[in-house]
Amino acid sequence: MRIDRPAARPDDIRRHNLAVILAQIHRDGPLTRAELTARLGLSRSTIGALVADLTALGFVEESVPNGGERAGRPSHVVGPHAGGPFVIAVDVDVSHLTAAAVGVGGTTLAKRVVPHEACPPTPAQVARQIFATVASLRAELGRSDDTIGPAAIGISVPGTVDRRNGAVGFAPNLGWRHAEFGGLLDDIAVPVVVGNDADLAVLAEHQRGSGRGCDDVVYLIGRVGVGAGIIANGSPLRGHDGQAGEIGHNVVDASGPPCHCGKRGCLETFIGDNALLELVGRGGLARDGAAQEVFADARSGQEQALSAVRVVAESLGQALGVIVNTLNPQRVILGGSLADVLDIARDVVEQSLDRHALDAPGRTVQLSLPSLGEDSALLGAAEVAFAAVLDDPLGDRVLLPR
Ligand SMILES: [Zn+2]
Repeated sequence: MRIDRPAARPDDIRRHNLAVILAQIHRDGPLTRAELTARLGLSRSTIGALVADLTALGFVEESVPNGGERAGRPSHVVGPHAGGPFVIAVDVDVSHLTAAAVGVGGTTLAKRVVPHEACPPTPAQVARQIFATVASLRAELGRSDDTIGPAAIGISVPGTVDRRNGAVGFAPNLGWRHAEFGGLLDDIAVPVVVGNDADLAVLAEHQRGSGRGCDDVVYLIGRVGVGAGIIANGSPLRGHDGQAGEIGHNVVDASGPPCHCGKRGCLETFIGDNALLELVGRGGLARDGAAQEVFADARSGQEQALSAVRVVAESLGQALGVIVNTLNPQRVILGGSLADVLDIARDVVEQSLDRHALDAPGRTVQLSLPSLGEDSALLGAAEVAFAAVLDDPLGDRVLLPR
């Protein structure tokens, strides 16, 4: 009789169990050996051996909690090793990029914001900036040696991305079309993963933020552009070509203002930063911080700014009605400038949503602020960079600290 699936070899089982333990510590933070034993249903000695492997690989470190002696032998606490393998995450925005070195457990070890050479920048300019920033982050961490570089690099881009090769299909606010962006980073010599900003933001918020524990969650990000990252039934909803969620370019009013994408009256021309700036008479080329100035004015009670935010809030509620009716999410997280719109004019957003969504899904949805703040997409980029490492902690991609 032919056996189609060979039995798992001890080495495969070990790899699998190492990956399971590492994923739990990465997601949940420090856990005691007793907790790991209970979670995995393995013997204490097996857990001890696996933890010893992960410690030798540099991923985790153990400590003994204080004051445990009285209650008998204390269970060792296994937590992420701050000096262990790390990844570099990059969030590319229209005027600047943010880059961070992120360790196991999602801890940001070092971070910097770098303005682009030109606004918007070319793919080649961004690639050059990433090379320089990776080098400076490594120097800051004291890990410039080739043997202790990042395990992988994750990059968030405000546009549609081909996940197979990192090519950016269309990033209207960067002015990129069919840009072979991922290929420009081949010389980096570690795996590079490029993703869409909203897709990565929802991943991070689902893993360790406002979307934790929700199987159906949408992250609607609004900066200059607007897009949605969607988790449905606990999994990312990507669509046939990986471009699901581009709702910023749903036409709301075909006679509306022109959009970067070439159409008129797209949603982002009603709720993106430029729409807000037009409403307060500060339109033109959106510069860094301009929308934040309007929000500050609105918070201090300035009439014109407040009324502009409320106009955007009304359109935002209408857009949320479409999302809620289509996807029936448990929670919608509003990021970027839309977080400020919700914070300042939640009443307007909710009343508008009530008018535009069906009763049942509209009543149950919760509107939340991102608990990772401005860093959702950045930390999502770190998560996709970590994915390969977490899948196989013994893989040769991991460059160990000495
Ligand atoms: Zn458009």
